[in-house]
Amino acid sequence: MSYKNFPMVPRVIFGRGSFNQLSDIIAPKRLSINAPFIFLVDDVFKNKTWLTSRIPTSYDDRIIFISSKEEPKTSQVDELVEEIILKTKERPSGIIGIGGGTLLDLAKAVSIMITNEGETKNYQGWDLVKNPAIYHVGIPTISGTGAEVSRTTVLTGPERKLGINSDFTPFDQVILDSELTKDVPTEQWFYTGMDCYIHCIESLTGTYLNAFSQSYGEMALELCKEIFLEDSLTKTDAQEKLMMASWHGGMSIVYSQVGVAHAMSYGLSYLLGTKHGIGNCIVFNHLEEFYPDGVKLFKAMKKKHNIVLPKGICADLSDRELDIMIKISLSLEPLWENALGENWKKKITPKKLKELYQKM
Ligand code: NAD
Ligand code: ZN
Repeated sequence: MSYKNFPMVPRVIFGRGSFNQLSDIIAPKRLSINAPFIFLVDDVFKNKTWLTSRIPTSYDDRIIFISSKEEPKTSQVDELVEEIILKTKERPSGIIGIGGGTLLDLAKAVSIMITNEGETKNYQGWDLVKNPAIYHVGIPTISGTGAEVSRTTVLTGPERKLGINSDFTPFDQVILDSELTKDVPTEQWFYTGMDCYIHCIESLTGTYLNAFSQSYGEMALELCKEIFLEDSLTKTDAQEKLMMASWHGGMSIVYSQVGVAHAMSYGLSYLLGTKHGIGNCIVFNHLEEFYPDGVKLFKAMKKKHNIVLPKGICADLSDRELDIMIKISLSLEPLWENALGENWKKKITPKKLKELYQKM
């Protein structure tokens, strides 16, 4: 038995208003006045001066606003890297991602691709990255994905939706300032928050579970219950706790794996472009068979916050389209093995998956 040796985020700052320390944090990392910091920022903040005016740019530093309407693509990373390299005199001092999972994943991927040759799609998989990334900082503005701690950056490529999983992927620095999440709309708050909840359920019920993952997973699950089922928290408390739930949920899967909901949600995302958070919710809602307790609680949370999920998103799909989704989903072997054990192929068949998708 050989145990995996995982990297962790080496530096993290936590606290309301800690975003103001960004300037002090990155200043010593500036390589030269010709080596700018590149800030990749969700374009939802474009006219939000309370945030943008606090982004500490100097010399040739640049802010690039990016839409998170669609999930990150390998071609998008290639284009960004090209644009950054063309417009900078020297290799940038660092990449700073400000936004949700989409922007955090883009920041990780761009920081890797600045020092690694060829196209991004060639690095989708496990441990294919050869050179260390440039300095990169993650600043989440919505909580749940765990992308701020994880060792992966999830990208849709021409052939698959798969992360760049590598020791060079995790951020060098993370800033957890829950104030940045204050304006997240309720539905999006729920969908991304449920990503965290589902990470916990899939990790805690999986066959890969171990004491490391369990300790983080149980902590995150308790926080989720408090945030989504109780009324006792102040808004600030709830925002801070969800930020920590996301972190712990991410730490839990670092050393285990996700499961059925993620495997099926990747299929939806690949074919229909369904976003991760809402896709997970749509799938999880139909997974009583695999996660009876988890789904029961999920439905209670959904009811409490008056969330109405889209229905019938697979109703008009052709057999060929369904087959593509099924193929993408079944290709995520570690997820199925974690969820159903070594003999997972006997327990989940294309036919069974088709029936499930058709219910969604
Ligand atoms: P997101 O980044 O796609 O953002 C969702 C929506 O929330 C967007 O419309 C965005 O503009 C908005 N938003 C973000 N912050 C806001 C704020 N403070 N105020 C108002 N609106 C705000 O959402 P997400 O759910 O955080 O991320 C999903 C992505 O994360 C997917 O691409 C998924 O593949 C990826 N992901 C990555 C990992 C990982 O470990 N790397 C894990 C899970 C998910
Ligand atoms: Zn997830």
